Amino acid sequence: MYTTIRVHLKPNNKQKTKLELYSNAAKFIYNWTLEKQLKHYAETKRFLKNGDLRKELTVLKRTEEFKWLQDVDNNVPKQAIKDCCEVFLNYYNGNIAKPKFKNSNSKKSFYQDPLKLKITESYIKVAKFAKNTKANKQKLNWIRLGEKVNVPKDTPLCNPRIIYDGKYWYFTVSFLQESLVNAKQNNKGIGIDLGVKNLAICSDGVTYSNINKSGTVCKLKDKIKHTQRKIQRKYFINNKNQPFTKGRKLHKTSNISKLDKYLKDLYKRLYNIRVNYLHQATANIIKNNPKFIVLEDISIKGIIKNNKYSKYILEQNWHKFRWYIEYKCLKNNIQFILADKWFPSTKKCIKCGNIKEFIHIKERDYICYSCGNIIDRDIQASLNLEEYGEKQLTLVNKNIPIR
Ligand SMILES: [Zn+2]
Repeated sequence: MYTTIRVHLKPNNKQKTKLELYSNAAKFIYNWTLEKQLKHYAETKRFLKNGDLRKELTVLKRTEEFKWLQDVDNNVPKQAIKDCCEVFLNYYNGNIAKPKFKNSNSKKSFYQDPLKLKITESYIKVAKFAKNTKANKQKLNWIRLGEKVNVPKDTPLCNPRIIYDGKYWYFTVSFLQESLVNAKQNNKGIGIDLGVKNLAICSDGVTYSNINKSGTVCKLKDKIKHTQRKIQRKYFINNKNQPFTKGRKLHKTSNISKLDKYLKDLYKRLYNIRVNYLHQATANIIKNNPKFIVLEDISIKGIIKNNKYSKYILEQNWHKFRWYIEYKCLKNNIQFILADKWFPSTKKCIKCGNIKEFIHIKERDYICYSCGNIIDRDIQASLNLEEYGEKQLTLVNKNIPIR
């Protein structure tokens, strides 16, 4: 399977300027290509080829106005053209909507040539940061990594890029990695029921609580609300004399920009807490080496519609939970089973198999009227899912195709 790593970079000030220059060049060339493509498309209903555009780029670099592009490594604009051409080809084939131009709010990123790229344990080398080829000037090319990484040297690297998330620079790369072979695998599987009250209820008796109810997150949410109101108030005071007309431009003071930045940081911290928790929870489940893991195939789009709990469901990031479990199973050679959408995991009695027609969301305990079984509804759902997984596995072993 392909593994992607993302490592925090620690560039110095000179390197930061260079990183800005590179990402701006990539953005500029992307927009330049898109403009050419759209113009050509409007005139002839065809698209320009990658190679022709690259030839035009060489001419452009020689002009006085765009001389600054010569300071950038050749691969950065080359890949920007390729990226844009790919997007445009998709548009040409009718797969996507009309592509948009990148602006100052778009994500900053640029490509690196995997053949030129060098990665050591704690440094990466970016091409052509230093103009001078003398050994003591070459230091500028080496950016320090925030943590130690182990990238295998014999496997080919795929799509190495340097990206900026608004605060820090990161380096990402993918490469092929073989799955680990588990010697000590349990002979029991785990069924996982996802919920609103708790994030996940496992059939082995472990529950992972909802991180959004914890004190840290609640405080952070309050802070966000407070800052949002502060910004709103400042906007109102600054633009009091402006009449309310459509399309009026609000005056943004430097204090508002400062608060905006602060708000962005708060949002990022909230996101990081949530993602970190999901990683911890999924890693904990995988650590027990179960035989298989069963999750319910939930269509989140369908649930969110007309549901008063939709906000709380979205906060939980179920799709990310499923994604993490899926790839971690693949990595550790654990069977991953997705239960059928119509499998009645909550409505089915674990003891007698009786299926109730309706259960209200406020009914926390499941009471079976045919056998008298009383059990917590979430635990029962996870047990039902585990049973489902066991059945599916025996069907696979007997070579009976699953419908
Ligand atoms: Zn029953």
